[in-house]
Amino acid sequence: MIAPNFKYHAPMNLQDVFALMSEFGSDAKLLAGGHSLLPMMKFRFAEPAHLIDLGNVEGLKGIEVTEESLTIGAMTSENDLLRYPDMINICPLLDKAVRLIADPQIRNRGTIGGDIAHGDPANDQPSIMLALDATFVLSSSSGNRKLKADQFFIGTYETALQSGELLSKIIIPRAATKKRYGFRKLKRKTGDFATAACALTLTLEGKQCRDVRIALTNLGPKSFRAERAEWLLNSQPLSDDSINAAIHLAMEDCEPAEDQRGNSEYKIKMAGEMLKRALSDAIA
Ligand SMILES: Cc1cc2nc3c(=O)[nH]c(=O)nc-3n(C[C@H](O)[C@H](O)[C@H](O)COP(=O)(O)OP(=O)(O)OC[C@H]3O[C@@H](n4cnc5c(N)ncnc54)[C@H](O)[C@@H]3O)c2cc1C
Repeated sequence: MIAPNFKYHAPMNLQDVFALMSEFGSDAKLLAGGHSLLPMMKFRFAEPAHLIDLGNVEGLKGIEVTEESLTIGAMTSENDLLRYPDMINICPLLDKAVRLIADPQIRNRGTIGGDIAHGDPANDQPSIMLALDATFVLSSSSGNRKLKADQFFIGTYETALQSGELLSKIIIPRAATKKRYGFRKLKRKTGDFATAACALTLTLEGKQCRDVRIALTNLGPKSFRAERAEWLLNSQPLSDDSINAAIHLAMEDCEPAEDQRGNSEYKIKMAGEMLKRALSDAIA
């Protein structure tokens, strides 16, 4: 419950954030919504000597919608995403899935950027971003670079963010937001992390799926795409056999950690079930 002592910094602009990151290096942690970092500090799993609060930093919050893309500032809260006018039509997958993240209080504080940058395989935004083919803008004192969600997640709590870099924006192509989608999450109770979850997008031409993207949550050391299942669905007309074969391949790709949510066998079966239901929502 009692976090260790730390020095608090509240910079107003990105240049000051970068200066603080460079001054304190690995002794400092960025603070976004605080709903993963502060719990870890209270258990003393993380003991940063400096916290750099991003809450007042200009330009990190907000949503911009154009014909081409949906651009979301990393410090935009989960509830800000849900409150954005017409999000249900702009990006129905995001609207549906974000409602199932944590609870209302946590969604008021927790940010989309923090959820992605934390690198927790149990978090939902990584899979949502993989399914939506998002691109992340990573910023540092030397400028910005763009990285696809596919390249960002490396392992448990490990991402492609380099020292001195932060996630500043998330860009989702509008074409992806208009696709058919499915999202299913099995959890023990409201506010819990997934036992198994699946986010997917696809287009359908008659009985043929195109551009299928299937992402699985909490079923391995990181959120990942079930690429062999995608390939199978893209290469054969939809049938009970092709769907079952794709589900089987996705299940083979799962390596869940055993914990209080279940053993590996149970979680893998639930991965298959979440994929089956998400797929049936998408093709209905
Ligand atoms: C009870 C409970 C239930 C939850 N259930 C779910 C759930 O079902 N699904 C889910 O997805 N999440 C869940 N969460 C996690 C919650 O969504 C967190 O808010 C989220 O994981 C982290 O976002 P944050 O803004 O709070 O980040 P913080 O806790 O402030 O930061 C998390 C980490 O990311 C780093 N970071 C933050 N922002 C940036 C940035 N812009 N660039 C680089 N690094 C950054 C921080 O330095 C820190 O290491 C739950 C949390 C709790 C306490």
